Amino acid sequence: MTTLSGMTTLSAASGIYGDALHECVACRAGNISYWRRKNFQYSQSKDRREFHIYRCQNCGTGFLNRPPAMQWLQSIYQYSGQALTQAITLEEVLDREAEFPNCIVDAERMSQQACWFNRSGNGRALDIGSGFGFYTQALRKQGYRTVSINPGSYENAVFKKLNGDEPLAVMFENYQPSQPFGIVMMSQVLEHLLEPDRAISKVSGLLEPRGVLACAVPNYDSFLVKLLGTKDNACLWVPEHVNFFTEKGLKALVERNGFRVIEIEQITRIPFNALSRRLGLKGKPAVIADKLVEILQVPFAALMNAFGMGIYINLYAVKK
Ligand SMILES: [Zn+2]
Repeated sequence: MTTLSGMTTLSAASGIYGDALHECVACRAGNISYWRRKNFQYSQSKDRREFHIYRCQNCGTGFLNRPPAMQWLQSIYQYSGQALTQAITLEEVLDREAEFPNCIVDAERMSQQACWFNRSGNGRALDIGSGFGFYTQALRKQGYRTVSINPGSYENAVFKKLNGDEPLAVMFENYQPSQPFGIVMMSQVLEHLLEPDRAISKVSGLLEPRGVLACAVPNYDSFLVKLLGTKDNACLWVPEHVNFFTEKGLKALVERNGFRVIEIEQITRIPFNALSRRLGLKGKPAVIADKLVEILQVPFAALMNAFGMGIYINLYAVKK
C-alpha cells in the first residue's frame, strides 16, 4: 500500500518537473543558488505544487529549478498563456483597455520603436506569443506583413475578432519558418520559455542582419518583488513564468546570440483601482483613491524606473 502510493506520487512528480538546471538560464554562469520556494495552485487543479526559485550570483536572474516539465506546461497553454480559465470576448478586452490603457499602449510604443531600429530592409514581422493581437495590429499599422504564433485558443479567438485572421496555434519551439524577418516581437514571452537561450538563438537565425528583436519581460529587480517577495505575482507568477530576468541577465542572453543591444527601458504602470480595491473602498472615496493612483504614479514610476526597479523591462537589440 505504502509502496504503491509512493510510486504514484513519484510518477506524478516526474510528470510535473523537468531536469535540474546547473547553470543560469540567462548568462550561463555556474554559480547559482537556491533563493526561495513558491507554492502554486492552478485554478483547474486542487493539487498544490511547490517550485524552488534559484538565483544566478552573476547576473541576478532567477528561474524555477527544477523547472516544470514541457508537456505539463503545454497542457496549461493550450487554452491560455495568460491564466484565462474561460473564453473572453474582444469587447471585454477593449473595455478593460479603455478603463486602464495597457496592452494597446505597449504594443504601439514597442512596434514604433522596433520599426525605427529596423535597418534590414525586410518588411516582415514575427509576433511570438501574439496574445489578443494588439502587437500584430500595431505592426500592420506600420506597414509590416506579419506572422503571428500563439498556442492559446481563448486568446486566438479574440485575435481573430480584432485582426480578421488567426495566428498559428503552435509553440515557438515547434515553429518552422520559411523566410527571414525584419522584426521579431516577443512581448511577455521569454519568461514563459523553458530554454530561453535556445529560443533567442532561434530568433537570431530567423532575423535578417540589422533586423530587430523587441522584447518585454517582467523585471525581477522590480519594487514589487522587493516589497512582496514571493507574494509578488507580476513577475513571480509560478509556474507559467519559469524565468525571472534582470536587465543584466537579459542583455547577456541576447548578446551571446549575435545581437547588439540598442536600447533598454523600464515601464511601470499600476492599475488605477489598485488602492481602492485593496482597501475595499466604494463610491466617492474609491473615485478619489483611483484618481490619486493615476496622478501619483507618474513621478513614482519615473523614480522606480530610474533606480532599475520598474515593473517591466523593454529591450531592443539589432542582429549583427
Ligand atoms: Zn546569470
